[in-house]
Amino acid sequence: MSEGQRTAVYPVLSDGSCAYCLRGMPSRCLSRGLVGIVTDGGYAELVKVPASNLMPIGELDFKAAAAMPVNFGTAWNGLASRAKVVSGDTVLVWGAAGGVGYAATQIAKLLGAKVVAVVGDDKKANFVESQGADLVVNSRTQSVVEAVRTFTGGLGASVVVDHVGGDTWGASIECLARGGRMVTLGLTSGPKSEVDVRRVYQEELAILGTWGQSREDIQLVMKLASDGKLKPSIFHEFPLSSASEAHRTLESRDVQGKILLLP
Ligand SMILES: [Zn+2]
Repeated sequence: MSEGQRTAVYPVLSDGSCAYCLRGMPSRCLSRGLVGIVTDGGYAELVKVPASNLMPIGELDFKAAAAMPVNFGTAWNGLASRAKVVSGDTVLVWGAAGGVGYAATQIAKLLGAKVVAVVGDDKKANFVESQGADLVVNSRTQSVVEAVRTFTGGLGASVVVDHVGGDTWGASIECLARGGRMVTLGLTSGPKSEVDVRRVYQEELAILGTWGQSREDIQLVMKLASDGKLKPSIFHEFPLSSASEAHRTLESRDVQGKILLLP
């Protein structure tokens, strides 16, 4: 990197010396942090990070670059690196209008899969269809399990992306086809859930916990955005001084895509 170069921040902080760092997996660092989420200092006009966390963004628009690392990077890690989604997969995405959800939808489509997108409000259907969803299911008015079974001829989804947690884990396990993979990469509804464990072994399911992303994951999704193959969608921009309003908007769950804070 050189002075004045346009950059984004690889948000995973690591010590560079533990067993995982030495194996090239900083997101599994035993003393890891995440700028702006588990490590303070992200909500500021100026942010101090190690030089090794800077990533050149080329000609990519700053706002697009800001709207990609955490959601597209994590979704890429979960779907491409962990679940190894390929053409022929059917991917169920919970919360498909949110930041991780719409990124997962775009990435699953790019990898050749079909996408069943779950929303909690019919107002969000058009948005998730515009991201490539093949079927939209409203979880407040329809059974997600029945909808995905019907869509797949009774088999179920080969991959489920769950970032909701407690409220959806049980249904995620029910939605999976034999040999299916569940990518679990966060929670917005609490950490406890009741799951029928029999399905996990009888159906030979794989549960793939995904935390953060590698530098390569982020560089790849930003390259795909530069090439027009992924499109960050910015729902609303707020000045940094209105951060509380931005949080209220997020908590209202009336969001489609990303919210940006502009320093
Ligand atoms: Zn480490």
